[in-house]
Amino acid sequence: MTAAPVTRIVIVGGGTAGWMTAAALVRVLGSLPGLSVSLVESEAIGTVGVGEATIPQIIGFNRLLGLDEMQFMRETRATYKLGIEFVDWLRPGHAYVHPFGSFGIDMLGIDFQHFWLRGASIGELAPIDAYSIAAMAGKAGRFGWPRPDLPKSPLARLSYAFQFDAGRYARFLRAYAEERGAVRIEGRIVDAVQDGQSGFVTAVRLEDGREVAGQLFIDCSGFRSLLLGQTLGVPFTDWSSWLPCDCAVAIPCELGGEDVPLTRSTARPAGWQWRIPLQHRIGNGHVFSSAHVSREAATDLLLAHLDGKPLAEPNHLSFKAGHRARMWEKNVVALGLAAGFLEPLESTSIHLVQSGIARLLALFPDTRFGAVERARFNAETEREYVNIRDFLVLHYRASERDDSDFWRYCRNLAPPDDLAEKLELFRSSGRIVRENNELFTEDSWLSVMLSQGVRPEAWHPAAWMLDEYETRKGLAHIRAVIANTVDQLPSQAQFLAQNGAAISPAERLAA
Ligand SMILES: Cc1cc2nc3c(=O)[nH]c(=O)nc-3n(C[C@H](O)[C@H](O)[C@H](O)COP(=O)(O)OP(=O)(O)OC[C@H]3O[C@@H](n4cnc5c(N)ncnc54)[C@H](O)[C@@H]3O)c2cc1C
Repeated sequence: MTAAPVTRIVIVGGGTAGWMTAAALVRVLGSLPGLSVSLVESEAIGTVGVGEATIPQIIGFNRLLGLDEMQFMRETRATYKLGIEFVDWLRPGHAYVHPFGSFGIDMLGIDFQHFWLRGASIGELAPIDAYSIAAMAGKAGRFGWPRPDLPKSPLARLSYAFQFDAGRYARFLRAYAEERGAVRIEGRIVDAVQDGQSGFVTAVRLEDGREVAGQLFIDCSGFRSLLLGQTLGVPFTDWSSWLPCDCAVAIPCELGGEDVPLTRSTARPAGWQWRIPLQHRIGNGHVFSSAHVSREAATDLLLAHLDGKPLAEPNHLSFKAGHRARMWEKNVVALGLAAGFLEPLESTSIHLVQSGIARLLALFPDTRFGAVERARFNAETEREYVNIRDFLVLHYRASERDDSDFWRYCRNLAPPDDLAEKLELFRSSGRIVRENNELFTEDSWLSVMLSQGVRPEAWHPAAWMLDEYETRKGLAHIRAVIANTVDQLPSQAQFLAQNGAAISPAERLAA
């Protein structure tokens, strides 16, 4: 006899993580006989209210839900994102784009960077992002659809994501999930009821005495980590020695400055500032290390670098880089901030929610709550956190900045082992190895390493097969094709209007 499926699911928390989870569960498991998905949240507590930049994987999540992209964009006031522009990270005055999609073309069957490296050695000085359609279109403020059907066009190598209003995204998903049967319960959780023998959570108790019972509990309670951290006592693995930023101050402002489909990250003396342009406003924030700058000075610096009038009071947040040692314990699975946090430098948190949901659905428990599925979930999730951590640390480690204690600390950090190995291999021969299906592709590693001054000593021997003339000609041709293609794309504003994704002037003013 097979074990019965789990059908009574309780989600604790209604931020982005909670409502993404509810939406995905009702979409995928909605026809399971007896399924009930309840979500408990407290308006009095609220959500973190930030989290506006995403990576291309979000498109897969939206497709899973069957969302209409244009409706989604209007409702969440979204813009397109073609990558992240990193300003002053290598040194003050330097800028590059870490684009989505890939660089150049594979020439003679080997990765493009080897030809770029050979070109650089003979004076071809165009930066690597000149060979990315996403970077060039992003800087020019233009947007177009990827064209995988045109393999010879640079548009075949384009990929995109969204920047959206986090509050509106959660409300949008809430409406979606409630329409399909998820039940929202308003109330503050004060306690969890546990089985005396197994320690499994059997219910959460609300302030007014109500109990919400279930078989599987998904902890989306944010930094509090109510069930996984507090009730089950799963310890936190602290990575703050590698990622010392522990605070952020966020503030939206009126539209102003450049209208480009890019998130911007500008390095500051004790951290960095984000700029996320939406259709109706710009999201801004300063992520900083409280050991290196005071909260007041960090706030002043942010306020001095806005492109428009502030639209709210500064929102202060504190955090620690790292994750819970196990994200699935007994019958509790944590997603979102309740599971862990890595600073938003590469916009990975919403993706971590999404990949956690996908992993949970793939390993969905039955009423035995098998140890093997749990172990697999925890191992894969931890690996994903480690990979992202290493990629973030690279940005700090590969900097020439020497202008503050913070940057001196960062550039002298001993990198984690896997990152050290990646850097060594790249420095030796320009090669990048992507292991365990890690989130960031070879192109992403290449982008940050080359743009932040990590220089290989050699390149693939095949790059010598083209002589100097052919190398220069090939590189110039790729740049010209990309430039021509960018010239033919509409501006992002035109694209949004032409495709029914633009909000009305009245909606813009109602920000
Ligand atoms: C400074 C900063 C910038 C960020 N920027 C990005 C970004 O650009 N891109 C990105 O992908 N991610 C970003 N993130 C991360 C992103 O904001 C979160 O991953 C995402 O919002 C998910 O949050 P959450 O739902 O886990 O938690 P929260 O939004 O905190 O939601 C927690 C929920 O739990 C409920 N709750 C808590 N305690 C109780 C209780 N006792 N009883 C009842 N309900 C309770 C709350 O009411 C709330 O509904 C950023 C995070 C920070 C801190």
